[in-house]
Amino acid sequence: MNFEILVATNNAHKLQEIRQILSPHHITVYGMKDLNIDIGEVDENGKTYFDNALIKVKALQNITKMPILADDTGLEIKAMDNGPGLFTARFASSLGGYENAFKEIMNRLEGKDRYAEFVCDIVILNVEDKPLRFEARIPGTIATNVKGEGGFGYDPIFINKELNKTYASMSQEEKNRVSHRGKALKKFLTYLKINNLID
Ligand code: IMP
Repeated sequence: MNFEILVATNNAHKLQEIRQILSPHHITVYGMKDLNIDIGEVDENGKTYFDNALIKVKALQNITKMPILADDTGLEIKAMDNGPGLFTARFASSLGGYENAFKEIMNRLEGKDRYAEFVCDIVILNVEDKPLRFEARIPGTIATNVKGEGGFGYDPIFINKELNKTYASMSQEEKNRVSHRGKALKKFLTYLKINNLID
């Protein structure tokens, strides 16, 4: 049984991770480019991760009847009042990129509790008549130094509690196994299996 899904993202790293996690389960994962879809930037002005993921899937709802998946992710740092949270992408872009964002976070955390969580909300449209939601929250700490060459975004500063190393220091297989995205997608896979939508 082959299940097809379109991922509503312009982030090639995110698409690659989602494809790596879902494709071993006979799920064909399409990016927007694969289907020549270009909807430009979507204004993610929701009040929750769920709202933002819903905005992303809904931007494609008139384009296809195929199941659509969107992921909205945020990094919540305890000593920064659980920020940047919903503003995780804007935090880095407003400072001119990730290197500056890492420096800013390191400065703000000097002498403080370094506890943090990565949050991921996955929303699926066109499987049931209402959107499906799968969420994961992964505990960790902010590293004192940037570490690792892999991954993307905030991966070099987030030490995942389960494997006690930064996401950027992990192999892709390790990150997919323990990450916020990997765990949220595992819940989606369980849903698909229970409903006999995949083998
Ligand atoms: P969005 O979910 O695409 O809006 O991403 C929000 C922010 O989180 C962006 O700055 C991303 O680069 C970052 N981000 C999303 N997923 C990950 C991840 O798996 N690791 C590190 N950073 C991520």
